Amino acid sequence: MENETLFNEEAEPPGHPTGLVAPQHEATEVLPLTASNAQPSLVKSRPERLYFPFKDSPRAKAFRKRFYPEISRIEWFDWRWQLQHAIRDVQSLSAVISLSDSERQALMHPSGDLPVAITPYYASLLSVDDPSSPLRRCVIPVVDECLHTKGEEEDPLCEDADSPVPGIVHRYPDRVLFLVTDICATYCRYCTRSRIFGRQHQCFIDTAKWEKALAYIESNPNIRDVLLSGGDPLTLSDDRLEWLLSRLKNIPHIEILRIGTKAPAVLPQRITPALVSMLKKYHPLWMSIHVTHPDELTPEMSAACIRLADAGIPLGSQTVLLSGINDAVATMTRLVHALLQVRVRPYYLYQCDPIPGSSHFRTPISKGLDIIKGLRGHTTGYAVPTYVVDAPGGGGKIPLLPEYAIGWDQGDLLMRNYEGQVFRYPDNSAESKDIH
Ligand code: SF4
Repeated sequence: MENETLFNEEAEPPGHPTGLVAPQHEATEVLPLTASNAQPSLVKSRPERLYFPFKDSPRAKAFRKRFYPEISRIEWFDWRWQLQHAIRDVQSLSAVISLSDSERQALMHPSGDLPVAITPYYASLLSVDDPSSPLRRCVIPVVDECLHTKGEEEDPLCEDADSPVPGIVHRYPDRVLFLVTDICATYCRYCTRSRIFGRQHQCFIDTAKWEKALAYIESNPNIRDVLLSGGDPLTLSDDRLEWLLSRLKNIPHIEILRIGTKAPAVLPQRITPALVSMLKKYHPLWMSIHVTHPDELTPEMSAACIRLADAGIPLGSQTVLLSGINDAVATMTRLVHALLQVRVRPYYLYQCDPIPGSSHFRTPISKGLDIIKGLRGHTTGYAVPTYVVDAPGGGGKIPLLPEYAIGWDQGDLLMRNYEGQVFRYPDNSAESKDIH
């Protein structure tokens, strides 16, 4: 019989409840962080308060009871259990989902480097019988993934060309991307970095590589901002993450740290009291949360975001525009409204990058512009993300906007508002004067 009271409180949880047997791995010894033990193993932490002390949603609970009847709530809410039991193959997936022929074929004959992994929690959100449902399309491959079309590249953003040392992408003068791991809790089929996954010889969780990356950052005083990404940095243990954050924090010219993660959506159990207590020590620390569809905004994800926000971490979202998944104004409106309610500011809406096998995900640019047109003026300004194309060839993010400025007439700027009406503004620019 499960202890139903353990999670029925919004406050931080007590320590180990008397009479309950803690999962064995909770007592693992602290391993010193050395190059020799720096394998992509996920269990390298001191005993910590692992649990996510919120109620599970009825949907997740029903899923757990049906497919994991032996698993207690304690294990289900243990992020390490979720990672270790990620669903990775056709047999395990077909036990919980009715697979289409296309999905089954793609799972049996994978193309490219991008592995399959779906946390049991995220699997509980997938439609059992509709292969066209949004979340399912994001994480289960289909045969279209084998179709490579014109303009697609393994590294469309030319990140490798802007990498002075392994793990660092230095594109903009004052900031760097630090790829600290090649592991994600759940792999998105449209991932820009699909090229780095599944190549063990390129393992990113390696203190020797981290040291080289840190030395590069230390030797470049122009760098004021470091974005930890990957892979997902929140698949690292608290100890390893803290080691990185403390090293970066000690570099005098680093002003802010950022973490890019999809953990709140695919592994909300990761947002433990211990994690947020640790992160709080490294302010100013910002977080970009990868979120795709309003169906991801479950009670669990909401609780995770609120916990991070309560720790003073400013939260922004990053969303990839995906054909048939989130490319409708109504869907995107639901998503941005749900994000604001859990204190996440919609930040970027990305045009999908042309990685190999991505044509079934990519929309025309006009879709993105229509979505921005459908949001701007129609909802709270905070809810409107910046729509960007990350320019193939390494040009960086280029924002795209619907044409609100029409031109000048007799010294006035002519502008179209959100309802399509045209207004004048008495402009004082050189352009307006040239017209006369
Ligand atoms: S979470 Fe991010 S890095 Fe990981 S597979 Fe998805 S898009 Fe790629």
